[in-house]
Amino acid sequence: MNLVNFRFDTDADGIATLTWDMPERSMNVITPQVMEELNQVVDKVASDEAIKGCVIVSGKEAFSGGADLTMLQGLRDLYVKLAKEQGEQIAMQRFFDESRKLSQLYRKLETCGKPFAAAIHGVCLGGAFELALSCQLRVVSDDASTRVGLPEIKVGLFPGAGGTQRVSRLMQTGDALQMMFKGDQIKALPARNMGLVHAVLPRDQIVAAAKEWLKANPQAKQPWEDPKFKLPSNKVHSPAGMQIWPPANAIYRRETNDNYPAARAILSAVYEGLQLPMDLALKVESRYFAKILRTKEAASMIRSLFVSMQELNKGARRPADVPASKLKKVGVVGAGFMGAGIAYVTANAGIEVVLVDRDIEAAEKGKAYSHKLVTDQITKGRAKTADRDALLARIKASADYADLKGCDLIVEAVFEDPKVKAEVIAKVEAVVGPKTIFGSNTSTLPITGLAEHSERPKNFIGIHFFSPVEKMLLVEIIMAKKTGKKALAMALDFVRAIRKTPIVVNDVRGFYANRCVGNYIREGHLMLMEGVPPAMIEAAGKQAGMPVGPLSLNDEVAVDLAYKVLKATKAQLGEGAVDPAQEKLLNEMVEKHGRLGRKNRKGFYDYPEAGPKRLWPGLADLVSNHIHPEKVDMEELKHRLLVTQALEAAKTYEEGVVTDPREADVGSIIGFGFAPYSGGTLSYIDNMGAAAFVKLCESLAKKHGERFKPNRLLKRMAKTGESFYGSAEKKAAA
Ligand code: NAD
Repeated sequence: MNLVNFRFDTDADGIATLTWDMPERSMNVITPQVMEELNQVVDKVASDEAIKGCVIVSGKEAFSGGADLTMLQGLRDLYVKLAKEQGEQIAMQRFFDESRKLSQLYRKLETCGKPFAAAIHGVCLGGAFELALSCQLRVVSDDASTRVGLPEIKVGLFPGAGGTQRVSRLMQTGDALQMMFKGDQIKALPARNMGLVHAVLPRDQIVAAAKEWLKANPQAKQPWEDPKFKLPSNKVHSPAGMQIWPPANAIYRRETNDNYPAARAILSAVYEGLQLPMDLALKVESRYFAKILRTKEAASMIRSLFVSMQELNKGARRPADVPASKLKKVGVVGAGFMGAGIAYVTANAGIEVVLVDRDIEAAEKGKAYSHKLVTDQITKGRAKTADRDALLARIKASADYADLKGCDLIVEAVFEDPKVKAEVIAKVEAVVGPKTIFGSNTSTLPITGLAEHSERPKNFIGIHFFSPVEKMLLVEIIMAKKTGKKALAMALDFVRAIRKTPIVVNDVRGFYANRCVGNYIREGHLMLMEGVPPAMIEAAGKQAGMPVGPLSLNDEVAVDLAYKVLKATKAQLGEGAVDPAQEKLLNEMVEKHGRLGRKNRKGFYDYPEAGPKRLWPGLADLVSNHIHPEKVDMEELKHRLLVTQALEAAKTYEEGVVTDPREADVGSIIGFGFAPYSGGTLSYIDNMGAAAFVKLCESLAKKHGERFKPNRLLKRMAKTGESFYGSAEKKAAA
C-alpha cells in the first residue's frame, strides 16, 4: 500500500491498526487522497487472510473534523464546467457518481467481510463520524473534548455518506431526525445513551478494548445486515410510524419555515430510506445529496459559514507585517452590562483582567457576573469549582486607574456619553505605557471623534461587542481616521484569543451591523404603523429566516434605546434623517406608556411572571388604520424585512464602511442572525442577481417610499451584471 495520510500495522493477533495522521495538518480531514488510501486499506484488510479486523484511530489530538468542504466546493465547480462543456445530462451523471464516492467507500468497508472498529478521542464529526458509523464498533474516550455528531446542516448540507440511513437505523426516528436537524456535537456519555456509540472508556484503553472486541468478534456485522433486523421505531407505514411522520413534518416546518432544502432532504431521505434495503437506501440518500450540493443555499452557507468564517478567524484582515502579540493583561474600564461580559470572555481565554469602575462596589459587581456565569456552568456539569476559582483569580476588580499599568490593551465600556468617555481616555492614558492600545466599545459615537481626546490616536480603535457578550460571536473592529496598523493587529489578536470572529469596518455612524439590523427593526415599526397586525409582522420576520421578529428584537435591545438613537440621529442629521411614523410610535411607547422592552417586562410584548410573552394588546390603540389579515401580502412583508437590511449592507459597501463581502456576510449572520440560508446580506443580493434586486427595490420604493431606492452601486451592478463576490475576486486578483 502506498499510504501518506495513514499508518498501517498489524499485531501478532492479526488485528490491524490504521492510524489516521495527515502530515502538515493540525486536524484530519477527508480529502480525495484520504478516500483513495482508505480504499486501499479496505482492500488489504478484506483480502489478507492474516488480518482479522482493523481498528481506526487518530494520530492527532482529535479524531477528525469531517470532509474538507472545499472539496465539495470543487465538485460544484466541476458540475458547472461539465454542464457548460458537455451538457446537463453528462454533468449530472458525473456529479452524482463523484458525490457518492464516499458513501460507496463506507459501504464497501462495512460489507468487506472483516470487522472494523473506530477508537475515537476528541471531535469526530460529519464525514468522519459517518466513517465511524460504518464500522461495526465505536468506542469513545471519556475525555471532555470527545464529541461526535453530524453538523452538516449548519452549512446547508446533510450527512450524505450514509449518515441519514445508519443513524435512523440506530436510534428512534424522532431522535435521529432531531440530531441531524440540530447538528449538535454530542459528548461521550449522551452519545452512548443515544445508542450512537457502544462504549465509553479512558483514553488509554480505547484502542486495546477495540482490539479485544475485534479478536472476539471476527464475524461481526452491522445490525441492519441481519435479515431479522427491526427498525428502532418500527416500519414507516405502521401505526407507530404514523405517530412519527405527521408531527415530524410539522416540526420541520415550524423550525425551518421551509427555508433550508437540506433539512427537507433529511426528512425525505430518512422517510424513503427506511422503507428500503440498505444499498438502495444509500442510493436514495445520494440522490438527495447531489441535489442539495447544487443548491445556492448550500453554496452560500459553505462559503460564509465555513470558508469565510475560517479565513476571518485566521486573520484575513490582519496586517501581516506586524508580529503577533501575546496579550497578557487587558484592562476593562466600565464594569456595567457590557464591561462585565468583556471581562468574563477575556479571563476565560486565560488573560489577566483589570476591571475598573467608578467605585469598588461597581467593579466587584461586574466581577460577580463572571462568578454567576461559571456557577451556571458548574450546575450544568460543564465546569468545575476549580475552573471558577482560576477564572476569578484572573480578574482584579478595582476603582484605581493606576492598576491599569502594564496592560497591553484597554477596552472601554463606560456610559455612552462623550464627556465621560473623554475623561476616561485621559485618565487611562495618564497611567498606561505608550504602546498600550485603547479600544472603545461605543455603539453610536464615531471613533474618530473619541480619538481626538487621545494623545495617541494611532493607538486608538473601536472594539464593538454585541450583547450578551459571552454568547455573541461577532466583534466589529472600527478603524478611526488615524488608527495605526499596530492597533488593528492587537485588536485582531485579542479577538482571536477570545475565540470570536472579527470584521474590520470603517468609522461611520452605526458602523455596519447596527445600521442593517436597525433597518429591520424600523421596518417592523413602520409596518405596525401602517396597520399590519403585529402577529403577522413577527411571523413574516421568522418566515423570512430571521431568528426573531422585529418587534421581539426591539424589546430585547430596549425600546427606549431605539428612541434615544432616533433622537440622536435627528439632532445630528436633521428632520429628514428619521421617519416621522417611527418617531411617533417610539415616542408613544416610551414617553406615554413607559414601555421600554423586556427589561421592564413591558414592550411590544407583555412579559408575565408566569407563562410565555404575549403581544401587548394596547398596540392596536396606537394605530389608526387596521389592515385586515387577509389583505396582507406576507411575501411582500418578508421581502421588505430582508431587502431593507441587504440594501443597507450594499450602501455600507458603497460608502467603504465594509470593504470585503465576506465580512458583510459573516457579520450579518453571526451579528444579527440575517437569514443564514441566504449566506448573508450581500450573498442575498448576489444570489438574486443585482438586476432582480434593483427591480425589487424599485417596486418597493414605489409603494413604500424612498428608503427602498437602490443606491448607485447597485444600479451600476444591475447594468453590468457584476456581483459583490465577482468584483471582490477581480480586485484581489489585480
Ligand atoms: P452600563 O450603564 O451597564 O455600564 C456602564 C458602566 O460604566 C457602569 O458600571 C458605570 O458605573 C461605569 N462608568 C461610568 N463612568 C465611569 C468612569 N468614569 N470610570 C469608570 N467607570 C465608569 O452600560 P453598557 O450597556 O455596559 O454600555 C457600555 C458601553 O458599551 C456604551 O458605550 C455602549 O454604547 C456600549 N455598548 C452597549 C451595548 C448594549 O447592548 N448595552 C452593546 C454594544 C456596545
